[in-house]
Amino acid sequence: MQVLVIGSGGREHALVWKLAQSAHVTELWCAPGNAGIAGERLTKNDVLVQCIPIGAENLPALSSLAQEKHIDLTVVGPDNPLALGLVDWFQKNGLRIWGPNRRAAQFESSKVFAQGFMERNGIPTARAGTFTEPSAAKAFADSLEGRCAVKADGLALGKGVLICADRAEAEAAIDEILTHKAFGSAGTNIVIQEFLEGTEISLHAICDGKTAFLFPTSQDHKRALDGDRGLNTGGMGSYSPTPFLDKSELEAVRKSILDPWIKGCAAEAIDFHGILYPGLMVTKSGPKVLEFNARFGDPEAQVYLTRMENDLVELLEASVDGTLGRMELKWSPVASVCVVMASGGYPESYVKGKPIRGLVEAARIPNTKVFHAGTALVSDQVVTNGGRVLGATAWNEDLNRARAAAYDVIDRIQFEGAQFRRDIAARALSQRCHT
Ligand code: AMP
Repeated sequence: MQVLVIGSGGREHALVWKLAQSAHVTELWCAPGNAGIAGERLTKNDVLVQCIPIGAENLPALSSLAQEKHIDLTVVGPDNPLALGLVDWFQKNGLRIWGPNRRAAQFESSKVFAQGFMERNGIPTARAGTFTEPSAAKAFADSLEGRCAVKADGLALGKGVLICADRAEAEAAIDEILTHKAFGSAGTNIVIQEFLEGTEISLHAICDGKTAFLFPTSQDHKRALDGDRGLNTGGMGSYSPTPFLDKSELEAVRKSILDPWIKGCAAEAIDFHGILYPGLMVTKSGPKVLEFNARFGDPEAQVYLTRMENDLVELLEASVDGTLGRMELKWSPVASVCVVMASGGYPESYVKGKPIRGLVEAARIPNTKVFHAGTALVSDQVVTNGGRVLGATAWNEDLNRARAAAYDVIDRIQFEGAQFRRDIAARALSQRCHT
């Protein structure tokens, strides 16, 4: 089979790495890819993965590429192309593609849609309201004493959520989005949610339109600095499983969140093929959904795909065809930890083009993998090319050892200005870990 992966981050490197191990893949392409992706070889025939410099949002060029190379299956990594309707575009051109169509991708691309869907279908979430008028929005925020999350409706490069601690902050956030249009048309509508306290975890489920299988739990670390301080980022590290929901609690989540979600999709004629990734707050009164994403998390994909024992092609094909019900998800009982190395200054401004050293030495550590994110090859030298640069990933039966191995990998890699958190998975170590 000839497979094409769309995207260029750590998540896409993890997808490529896992697809390259498939018994079915004879040629693997990635657009646009990165330096790590370009170094992967297929298990079946030792052929190198080929990167093509086409951006993930260039719909016509991507579909021409898929036609030209006779691609049997295209796999979409990031959210933007899904929101733009890449899947619909491919399907109209008779091309086979894995990921939700534009309408189904609204779970992520419209917070107003997602909040309304949860309320219509009885999915536990924060108390919330949807507004276009600042005065009504402020009155609602006032009823929450200002402790709330103010969210721009549309995609805003992951920056459209403002967390407020009091009335003054809430009013300023509402003005910023609705009046001053800080996020442009993405902020024509807003959702205001009550502020929920608890432990945040990531869930993933693979769906085929009728059936959805929950993955084990994972946790991302969004803040830039140790101790969950500093600015919000795309994610500085992850691990799976987490100790914060045991098996019976996860089963309860399936019943209270996933089952009504599937029923709601059927009732509203939403045909979702892909990954549903709810961000969950485990509160004193049970788990509640903060938001939905419609693709693999990054860096959650890195820890999930290093634990997954299924042939990923078979799983994705079943997700496209609506035959997931015949499959069984298989997970290695190991714990997996991913620590992100980022450019100095990230998530604010940073310099690209710094040479990265130590990758060969790091690759010698068993049961580890360095997934590339923002990297490029310049005259045979791997250099930094983005905010998040690498994801040092390690797996072991023992979470503590997995974590130590991920940091061993980090210690062997150097580039000027490299920053990373020292406390990825640290909170989990004091708790018993469940699979
Ligand atoms: P979202 O993109 O909606 O997940 O929001 C980004 C981040 O803001 C989440 O990962 C949470 O850390 C935080 N957040 C969002 N909504 C809430 C809420 N209702 N209560 C507390 N924190 C929230």
